[in-house]
Order: sequence, then structure tokens, then C-alpha cells
Amino acid sequence: MALTVRAVLFDLDDTLFPTAASHAAGITEAWKALRRVRPLGRAAFDRLYASSRADVKARLGDAPAARNRLLYFKRLVERLLGRAAPGLTLAMGRAYERSFARADTAGLGRLLASLARRYKLGIVTNQECGLQLEKLRLIDPDGRLLPVVVTSDEMGVEKPHPRIFLEACRRLGCKPAQTLVVGDSWSMDVLGARRAGLQAAFFLPRGTPPRDSVPRLRRLSDLPALLGAEGGRP
Ligand SMILES: [Mg+2]
Repeated sequence: MALTVRAVLFDLDDTLFPTAASHAAGITEAWKALRRVRPLGRAAFDRLYASSRADVKARLGDAPAARNRLLYFKRLVERLLGRAAPGLTLAMGRAYERSFARADTAGLGRLLASLARRYKLGIVTNQECGLQLEKLRLIDPDGRLLPVVVTSDEMGVEKPHPRIFLEACRRLGCKPAQTLVVGDSWSMDVLGARRAGLQAAFFLPRGTPPRDSVPRLRRLSDLPALLGAEGGRP
């Protein structure tokens, strides 16, 4: 990073929030909620969930609503019971979201508080707004640490589209060139940020990064050192 950084934008899923683990637990909770109404083995549930999700995605293509998990559960219930069953569909959605509360976000508040003393902070995320606010509520309930949250839901486009990054910069009041994006997706976060004129750091806890000059972070706790070493705000 050759330029001074004044703001940091984080990706949410599997960068700040451990979404993969939480998602697996959430799907199990949704299955248990369904089982209370209609007995269904786990393998059969998994197949039905996968095909219902594929059904929704086939219809919606790359529209942000294609990520709405409640639509997957609604389709699943319709196919299983032959009717909409709103109570059951919502119960599955709530059961899924309750799993977020068990996610390990220890230490994150301290790290963000320390960064917030020197940088403006925010979130750029490709997901349904309600779901992302549920996750953020656990990390920063009153938005003091992460005052800017831009979701694909409200923008009508997803990362790597430049508009989502540029809108976040506008809300932060920072120039794109002075804003660093930290994310775990090479194509959506790193390449998307750079194409929009922002700086980027690749969050990659495991594995080998592509041959590139983009800084790589194994742990988020390494971010203050990276910023301090490579042009952070004096
Ligand atoms: Mg991510």
C-alpha cells in the first residue's frame, strides 16, 4: 500500500463474521424446526434444501434477492407440504438466524475499537440486509464502531460492482484511494475494490494467495501492523 489509508471497509461474511460455521449450524436448526411439523430425515432435507435453493436462484439469476434464505425455506416448505405455511417458513428462518448468536466473535470488538480510534470503519457486503444486520448486531449493536454499512440489497448490485464500493466511500467521507478493503474473496473484494480505485488486503486464513502484490492477512489481528507498516494514518 503506497498511499495513506484513512478508512477501512470490511467484507462481513467469513471476514468479520464466521459465516461458514454459523451457516452449517443454522441449516441444522432450520431442519429441526421443520421436523417438529413434518418428520424428514437429514439427507432428504439436505437434498430438498439444495434443490429449492437452486430453484430460487435459477429464477432470480444474479439479482440480490437470489441470496434471500427465507425464499429457499419458503420454496422448500411449498414443495414438501404443497402449501405456503407461513408460520413454519418463518420459524425455519428464525431458527437459522438464532445460530448466529453462537458464532465466535471474541476479540473483534477490541480490535475494531482500536482501529476506530485511527480510521473510519465500515462494511461492504453482498447479502440480504436483515440477515447482515442480525450478524452485525452481535459485533457492534449500536453502530459506533462500524457506522457505515452498505449491503447489495440496498444498492441493487453486488460486489465486485464499483458502485457498492464508491457508495461506501461517499458515506465514509473518504477518497477511494485512501480507503482499504479487507475481504476473503479475491474476485469480489480484492479485484472489485481495486477496479473501483480503492486499496485492498486479501484475508486468507489458509491457503496460498495468487501471485500478486496485494497484502495478505492470515489473521484480522495482523491488520493494525499492516496499516502501521504500510502507510497508515500518521
Ligand atoms: Mg466474504
